[in-house]
Amino acid sequence: MNVASILKVKGKSVATARPDETVEAVAQKLAARKIGAIVIVGDGGHVNGIISERDIIRAISSNGASALTLPVGDIMTKNVMSCHEASTLEQMMAVMTQGRFRHVPVIEDGSLVGIISIGDVVKHHIAEVEMEVTAMRDYLATG
Ligand code: AMP
Repeated sequence: MNVASILKVKGKSVATARPDETVEAVAQKLAARKIGAIVIVGDGGHVNGIISERDIIRAISSNGASALTLPVGDIMTKNVMSCHEASTLEQMMAVMTQGRFRHVPVIEDGSLVGIISIGDVVKHHIAEVEMEVTAMRDYLATG
C-alpha cells in the first residue's frame, strides 16, 4: 500500500492558507473544515510551512488572545516533512512516529498533490492487516 492508493480513496484536495493570513482566520478554516492542520503556501503555490491546532494553542499560551492577530507565517512550522505518492504506508508510519506529527503533505515535482493524516494511515493499516488475516484464514482452511 502506498500514498497514491490512499489518495485515490480520499482525494487530492488540500486545505491551504497564505502566510499573511491571521491565526484567527486559519483557526476558523480548521474549525469549518473539521481538520487539524493546514498547509501554508506562498507565491507560485510553493509550500512555505504547515500549521496545526497545536501551534495555535502554543501561540495563545505564550501571547494570549493577541496571538489571534499574528500572521500565521510567524507561528507555522517552516521545516515541513513531506512525502511522495510512491511513499509506502510503513514509511508514513515511521515519519509520523519519529517526527511526532500527524499530517504529511504529498509533493510531486514541487506541487502539492495531497495530504496524509494519521487517521488515513491508521484506517489503511487496519484494512491491510484485516486482508492479511482473511488470506491466512483462507489458506489454513483450504490447507
Ligand atoms: P500535528 O501532530 O500535525 O498536530 O503537529 C504537531 C506539530 O508538528 C506542530 O507544531 C506542527 O506544525 C508540526 N507538523 C505537523 N506536520 C508536520 C510535517 N509534515 N512536517 C513538520 N512538522 C509538522
